[in-house]
Amino acid sequence: MKPILDETHDPAAQSWVESANVGETDFPIQNLPFGVFRTAGSGSARVGVAIGDSIGDLGALINEGLLAEDDVEHAGNACRSDSLNALMALGPAPRRALRRRLHALLRKDAPTTDRQAASRHLVRQAEAQMLLPAVVGDYTDFYASIFHATNVGKLFRPDHPLLPNYKYIPIGYHGRASSLVASETAVRRPCGQTRDGDAEPRFGPSKALDYELEVGLFVSVGNPLGEAIAISAAEEHAFGVCLVNDWSARDMQAWEYQPLGPFLAKSFATSLSPWVVTMEALAPFRTRAFARAENDPAPLPYLLDPSDQEYGGLDVRLEVFLSSARMREAGMAPACLSRSNFRDLYWTMAQMLTHHASNGCNLRPGDLLASGTVSGAAKDARGCLLELTSRGKYPISLPTGEQRKFLEDGDEVVLRGFCERDGFRRIGLGKCSGVVSPAKAAQRTV
Ligand code: CA
Repeated sequence: MKPILDETHDPAAQSWVESANVGETDFPIQNLPFGVFRTAGSGSARVGVAIGDSIGDLGALINEGLLAEDDVEHAGNACRSDSLNALMALGPAPRRALRRRLHALLRKDAPTTDRQAASRHLVRQAEAQMLLPAVVGDYTDFYASIFHATNVGKLFRPDHPLLPNYKYIPIGYHGRASSLVASETAVRRPCGQTRDGDAEPRFGPSKALDYELEVGLFVSVGNPLGEAIAISAAEEHAFGVCLVNDWSARDMQAWEYQPLGPFLAKSFATSLSPWVVTMEALAPFRTRAFARAENDPAPLPYLLDPSDQEYGGLDVRLEVFLSSARMREAGMAPACLSRSNFRDLYWTMAQMLTHHASNGCNLRPGDLLASGTVSGAAKDARGCLLELTSRGKYPISLPTGEQRKFLEDGDEVVLRGFCERDGFRRIGLGKCSGVVSPAKAAQRTV
């Protein structure tokens, strides 16, 4: 589907919320991502829209009569909620109408009365706690970076790193929705079963805790059980994206993954960034699908669509930062571990979504489809420590002189993402962070 550009993408547009006009903000008026927040005072979870350093309280804006137009009312009412699920269930047209209305309301040249009314319902992000944006019924994790799949495959199967199905099937597995956590939630080091070489298996805290830099796609309108989704219509089922850290215990993973894939090595926690950047906001940053090598097979017909090949890619720059407890105590800036780009994925979001539903599996509003670790061709574009350190063989050095094969207790991992393109305003995905806390003492038995 050709991305639709309208006045909400005008790079010259500015907001009366001055912090939205600052060059490096992730949330200029061209972005307008949705999230769920609460403030210390009220305690209740509410739907908001990010603008600069603030949040517009959508329920309160509706109560002011600021979202009352016929085409906006439907989406506005869906925001009287403690999650984005109802808004997600509506699909692209009402969402676009709401975005256009919010853009008009927050523009510098908005009518004075609207502006005064809206300004009473802005909350500073610094004073809000961000929650999970949706109630996620099902979470699926793909494996869509051929660079990641090849690098990881080489560690385990040097002679044939990519399995024969990789270029035909968007590989994925069913993740665990109950342990999805909001950014800034501490992540406890898991305990589990591991095996060192030929030694007896043991149970205890993981010694090879890792992060995975991923992007998650939230499902908008679902599909009925038994009905597939045509690839040409797949993006009508997409709501928007966030950052995902798929924390992974590599030692547990190596011992448990055959023959049915990851299980407890992944299900102890997965962190999400709180702001969901809509497909509409991403429109200027759509790009061609990944250029397959000449000898690669073409996608099977159900995964091949000319429009998806032309616009199915998404140019999002992604970064991983690490700061150890010592670095933070010394006031040092976090160290950048890698930079990669979402456009380098072998499969598009539409292909992953279409494949997921191709057997008649019903997707539902608020389901989360994560991309898998986003790695690029370059060594400094590897999106997890397993790849960066070659499974601990080549530790990385931090500015304190500390070395890391895998994560230590107290380490903070921060993922960031942003879109930049000539002729458009830069927008960001915000950040997804988490600090590793020690394994629970009661479980430290071997
Ligand atoms: Ca993953």
